[in-house]
Amino acid sequence: MQTADVIVIGGGIWGLSTAYHLARRNAGRVVVLERNQQLAAETTPQSAGQIGQLRGDPVLARAVGYTLDTVSQFAAQTGHDAAFVRSGSIHVALCDERALQFEQLERVAQEIGYPVSRIEPTDITQFAPTVNVDSVRAALHVPNDGYVDAGACALAYGAAARDQGANCLTSCQVTQVCRSGSVWQITTSQGTWQAEHLIITGGAWTQSLTRQIGFTAPMYPIRLQQARTLADGVAESHPVIRVPDESCYIRPERNAYLFGYFDPDPLPINLDQQPPGFSTRDVRPEPVLIRTAIERLTKVLPRLTQLSIDEFRQGMMTCTPDGKFVVGPVPEAANVLVATGCGGTGIAASATIGRWLSEWVCDGAPSEEVAQYDPARFGSQTADDEWLRSAACATSAAYYRLPSSRE
Ligand SMILES: Cc1cc2nc3c(=O)[nH]c(=O)nc-3n(C[C@H](O)[C@H](O)[C@H](O)COP(=O)(O)OP(=O)(O)OC[C@H]3O[C@@H](n4cnc5c(N)ncnc54)[C@H](O)[C@@H]3O)c2cc1C
Repeated sequence: MQTADVIVIGGGIWGLSTAYHLARRNAGRVVVLERNQQLAAETTPQSAGQIGQLRGDPVLARAVGYTLDTVSQFAAQTGHDAAFVRSGSIHVALCDERALQFEQLERVAQEIGYPVSRIEPTDITQFAPTVNVDSVRAALHVPNDGYVDAGACALAYGAAARDQGANCLTSCQVTQVCRSGSVWQITTSQGTWQAEHLIITGGAWTQSLTRQIGFTAPMYPIRLQQARTLADGVAESHPVIRVPDESCYIRPERNAYLFGYFDPDPLPINLDQQPPGFSTRDVRPEPVLIRTAIERLTKVLPRLTQLSIDEFRQGMMTCTPDGKFVVGPVPEAANVLVATGCGGTGIAASATIGRWLSEWVCDGAPSEEVAQYDPARFGSQTADDEWLRSAACATSAAYYRLPSSRE
């Protein structure tokens, strides 16, 4: 029997950020248990890694702001490069209602105090020369935004956590979690652990872990896809371009365009029905959806139609019925925290999620009021798998949708 003070199950970006923040707080012996041979090998490295602060919810905007601060200073503070590029981002509105929504987003930005400026559509080409601005009604520039190589960022969190004494075990699958007296007993492929605190950050597999302690985490895994073109001389500093009216985004990667699309009819993935050992690698791409994304983006980035696809990339985004994270104590399970339901914002919020979880362990509560993310907020409805699946699909489909057009 091995012992720890805090065990974190899952070595994706959320688990590793949590380990880093716990270790920084001297939370005792912190151990991450990851079933893969490598850390951060599931959804995290499939991500576009965009970190965008323009949000309607001040809590989320502050959360992303802390991640921006953390990753931009990470190398200087820890010696590990979080692979952050401060490219800025440009949000474009293709209709008047979106332009009106931008005003509300600007107000939140002012309230929080981060820079956002309205730019003339014709000014977009100063930052992104190949963008066609003919259909753009309004544009916002967020200069502090950027993107990370999400896999590298997660490994940087993990390396910094190790430097501060945390232990990250790989090839260590958690098979059972149960209460043993006053501690949690965690059975793994490498033996049994006991710990006072347990944190579950198992990505798409979170439910299989929380169910063992009688709780269904209110989220459903949903396929999210993106693709990268062949290299086309796209500068690393090219801003992230968000085209919410087409449910699409574009950013530079390896001198090429990486672009993605929130499918209006997304594919839910029932992990209970997959073969043993199913992983993110087994999520198949749907090239027709990428062709749809190119069609949607043509009016803004006509160059896309001339470039071949070099790589399809997809993963499982964990979606909740209201599109908000699930972060906090598992009901009726002493000292167990869960964090999932990261949607398309898991990288952008990664540092803050880790900080909040470490504050729960060290201080008894996070420094921000986060009741809106309470894991128990849907009550018994969560047990209705059909409801959970369709509500999660609806929030994924509506990711960029205007409030007036949401179902
Ligand atoms: C195509 C795509 C684009 C995206 N773009 C963005 C973006 O631009 N910006 C953004 O913020 N977010 C984006 N996301 C979302 C982001 O990638 C996720 O929110 C984030 O990676 C989730 O991290 P995680 O640590 O929760 O999950 P994961 O990375 O999946 O990690 C979970 C870990 O838990 C481990 N695990 C599970 N069960 C067990 C067990 N029983 N025992 C031991 N270990 C276990 C797994 O092996 C895995 O390593 C995107 C997602 C996709 C798919």
